[in-house]
Amino acid sequence: MDTITTNFKKMIKHGTPPFRHLSDITTVIVHCTGRGVYKGTQNESIASKNAVKFYSGNTIGPHFMIDTFGAVYQFVELYHVAWHMKYGLEGWNLYQKNDWRSFYWKENEKKPAGSKVYSWWDRRWPGLASPTDIWVPKLGYPMDAQYRSVGIELIPKVNLSYTDDQYRALGDLLVWLCSNLPFFATAYHPNLLTRAIIGHEDAHPLIRVAVNQSGIGHGWDPGPLQWDIVLYNLGMDLIDIRNGELEIAGAPEGEENEDEGSQNDSNADGQG
Ligand SMILES: [Zn+2]
Repeated sequence: MDTITTNFKKMIKHGTPPFRHLSDITTVIVHCTGRGVYKGTQNESIASKNAVKFYSGNTIGPHFMIDTFGAVYQFVELYHVAWHMKYGLEGWNLYQKNDWRSFYWKENEKKPAGSKVYSWWDRRWPGLASPTDIWVPKLGYPMDAQYRSVGIELIPKVNLSYTDDQYRALGDLLVWLCSNLPFFATAYHPNLLTRAIIGHEDAHPLIRVAVNQSGIGHGWDPGPLQWDIVLYNLGMDLIDIRNGELEIAGAPEGEENEDEGSQNDSNADGQG
């Protein structure tokens, strides 16, 4: 995989970001780069340049970005935490309530985005009660979701779709991450995969989609990504990895799901 490394030093001017152990990373979060980042241009080369410039010069940003041509850029080292996804105490507490749906339903009673969030989320994660259930249990729960995750931004096309080159590049990057991050390489479990590689909207659906007091939602994120393609590509490669050179400690013997508390995993197959 060819990665274009940009400017790792960009975080330094805002203070060195926290270090972490690579073994603590359990989740990859895929994002859709907002139109605002690249100033709404119709030109995909300019969109890519603008996004690179933005992520190179701001504290906020992902570890990786993939443009519509399939070029992969890296902004932050994996052993640094990147600022791409934060619940905040309020958000985390909200999702821990059993009635997070009805809570927001009341808040947004007259705003149709509300019902859209819940029906979409329930279709995507059948059997799970809350976004907090998606997180693979390890080291307690991830109040600081960023500490536990790798962020990947995808620049959408103007028509809000992703290109074949992007799917290919994302697949290569995910395979690379799965074989280089200790958790994925050693505790890898086929049924955990769909919960370990997720979208921003899966982990934090309300702020992505629901309308806030100002009447503005952040938009679906990564929205138009076709997860079946992503996971299909990845599954094939991971099977090769599992049967190949890597010794997968902790992987189950057969099809039986031996992972505690994950009886719902087989249902959450990531269909977008
Ligand atoms: Zn996002």
